[in-house]
Amino acid sequence: MIKQRLDTVIVNGRIVTGDGVTEIETGNILIDGQAIVDVIAGVIDPPTDVQVIDAAGCTILPGIINGHAHGCTVGPTMPSGSRPFAPSDIEYHLNRHLLSGTTTLLNVCGLALMDEIATTPNDHPLEVAVSTAHTPANLAAARAIDGAGLGGRHHKMTIEAMIKAGAKALGEAGGGQTLGGGAQDYRFIPDAIHKATAVRIHPNLARALKEAVVGRRLDHPVADLKAVDHLLHGSMLRSVIDAPALADLVRATVMPPVSLSLQGLAEIAEASSRFGLPAIFHTATPTADTLMRLAVTHPTARMIAAHSNHPSFEPEECVSLARALRSSGVTIDVSTLDCISTRWRNQPTNLDCLVSEGLVDTLSTDFAGGDWDSILDSLNRMVRLGQSNLARAVALAAGNVANALPELASDRGLIAPGRLADIAIVEGHNLSRVRHVIKKGRVVVRNGAICGRNERRQQRRSI
Ligand SMILES: [Zn+2]
Repeated sequence: MIKQRLDTVIVNGRIVTGDGVTEIETGNILIDGQAIVDVIAGVIDPPTDVQVIDAAGCTILPGIINGHAHGCTVGPTMPSGSRPFAPSDIEYHLNRHLLSGTTTLLNVCGLALMDEIATTPNDHPLEVAVSTAHTPANLAAARAIDGAGLGGRHHKMTIEAMIKAGAKALGEAGGGQTLGGGAQDYRFIPDAIHKATAVRIHPNLARALKEAVVGRRLDHPVADLKAVDHLLHGSMLRSVIDAPALADLVRATVMPPVSLSLQGLAEIAEASSRFGLPAIFHTATPTADTLMRLAVTHPTARMIAAHSNHPSFEPEECVSLARALRSSGVTIDVSTLDCISTRWRNQPTNLDCLVSEGLVDTLSTDFAGGDWDSILDSLNRMVRLGQSNLARAVALAAGNVANALPELASDRGLIAPGRLADIAIVEGHNLSRVRHVIKKGRVVVRNGAICGRNERRQQRRSI
């Protein structure tokens, strides 16, 4: 007989606790207020005066912690300090994350301010935190490529002030916008070519042109005009621009922020050592050497190599880089990007290699130009393909994230007494189908739909 004061009891579910090891075949979770008070294996007789959620046939996971996402504040977006998304886009992103089992999210655009979290749709149950990359070189890199979302307050902001105000991590240092990555392919290069020629090209062509002009590491001083000419002749551009002019245009679009952004990486490593906060770094071919160097020169920096499965790498390159960074104490994060089910621009090869080699510490979504496949989709795929067992897979987006980002999540990420009652209840045979989500003890998604404000408020009164 259960005697203690309780608000909610989840019964009869398979529990994966998030520590990387523990699965309870049939178990029950006791919740009081915002916290888990007990986890009991077997079948229990729940008290009658509490909310009972029957999870029979379902799997119960810690609420997912997404340590690398964009587009979830009303502040400047991306390391390019671009204009914020429209409010309805932001609300859609928040809803999608919550409906895919995420209860805590770190928005790593890096230049948004604390009060730009608070104004996101009032009272949304997804908990959003921000990181800071407010250093001179990172702000200058943003201005060199865009900066249209930056106002006076952003330019004057410092890392010290952001940490005091509650920023949970540093970064993202560098980004696809400032370092010739995906955002150059889907946005800046097509926009520049459209402006010059009135022809809009596909991101895959933009990526191929970029590699022909500046190389995968952005270090070719001279364009491969033969390759540019070849790409030009297979495209709609052939009658409107010649190869040298196209090469100049691509170089002038990609390169202005690059050296500033690389300098920004060093400033963030330095700040991580100084303030003792975890720091998130854009990981891709143009940053690989810099990251290896910083891991050695800043041994006390708490470095996280974000999206280590970046599409700029060949599979063997990302595996050897992850192995080398990890042996220098760097946390290896991978992102779903659009490579699980969408696959518009990205494929899962690099993610598969890193998971199979056991080199992955944490899993996030990133943003990929608005395409991001859910974390649970990726975990489901990993388990199905036999790349990981269930307990280890779930830890990548729960307990491991709490360990890597304790300032954000040391009070959650595990189904264990004393932790926050942030919980996702998913289908037993398909982890990616979310049935219920509980945030700080309140049901916020019930039977696949976000609970209305009134229902959430009522639960709060009863607590
Ligand atoms: Zn990035």
